[in-house]
Amino acid sequence: MTTGNHHAIEIRELHHVYAGPGGGDSIAALRGVDLTLPAGQFVTLVGANGSGKTTLARHINGLLLPTQGQVQVDGRDTRDRTAWPYIRTHIALVFQRPEDQIVATTVADDVAFGPENFGLPSDEIERRVRQALETVRMWSYRHRPPHLLSVGQQQRVAIAGALAVHPTYLLLDEATAMLDPAGRQEVEALLQRLHAQGLTILSITHRMESVVSADRVIALAAGRVAFEGSPRRFFADADRLAELRLALPPAVALATRLRSHFPTLPADTLTAEEIAEALAR
Ligand code: ATP
Repeated sequence: MTTGNHHAIEIRELHHVYAGPGGGDSIAALRGVDLTLPAGQFVTLVGANGSGKTTLARHINGLLLPTQGQVQVDGRDTRDRTAWPYIRTHIALVFQRPEDQIVATTVADDVAFGPENFGLPSDEIERRVRQALETVRMWSYRHRPPHLLSVGQQQRVAIAGALAVHPTYLLLDEATAMLDPAGRQEVEALLQRLHAQGLTILSITHRMESVVSADRVIALAAGRVAFEGSPRRFFADADRLAELRLALPPAVALATRLRSHFPTLPADTLTAEEIAEALAR
């Protein structure tokens, strides 16, 4: 059922139970998740291993369907088959391992795969491939075989493939985890640019540094939402972070140590620049 044409992902009382391996005990991976993700935001999804992040991402693009509860994308229910084409063209998913996502023998063909599947005319496909590869700064590699690129470059090609579909929402599941520091920085800067251009981003990450610059953080613990709010509020509560078994970003860890020497240092500084400014006052 369509409840409206507003742009948001709405998750209501979502439960997901996996069948246990070999008929063993079933696993309740999501236990009543309620979230609204309005289009336009840059959201990071964090949580300890096994807290349900990947399961939630797979619900958002309809790869998994609710055991109980509901997921709607722009008012369209993921259980409604007639909504699947809409969901597939509006939500793009990028995984951790770029080599799992390579489908063609050249970079250009790889990026063309999505739009080709939607049966677009060939000049439109070419236009999209060029635009997407220019956006991720990989156009000059278009004739190369993707498997010979660095992992960071492969991941940028995977993102280009996602962008070529012209999605509203880009979901990334640990997309920078396999990358070296330079590749990671490149991809994180790319995500910031894409967000500035209007793309909605939901990024699952273990890197607390990348959470700092997001609009919003959602933390999962044992299949439930344990926190939802700004990064500043999230990192100001060290007890909560310890409870969620999450690390502090480097600048927040530094501020925590400095605070014993400089008790007036505010409790919610997030970056080295903010610490320097506060100390200078
Ligand atoms: P990680 O950070 O390790 O990727 P996660 O937060 O993404 O973890 P999920 O992968 O969603 O967590 O897993 C949540 C729970 O569901 C875990 O207990 C996991 O073992 C279980 N699980 C995940 N996928 C399956 C599956 N296909 N079959 C059975 N159980 C699964």
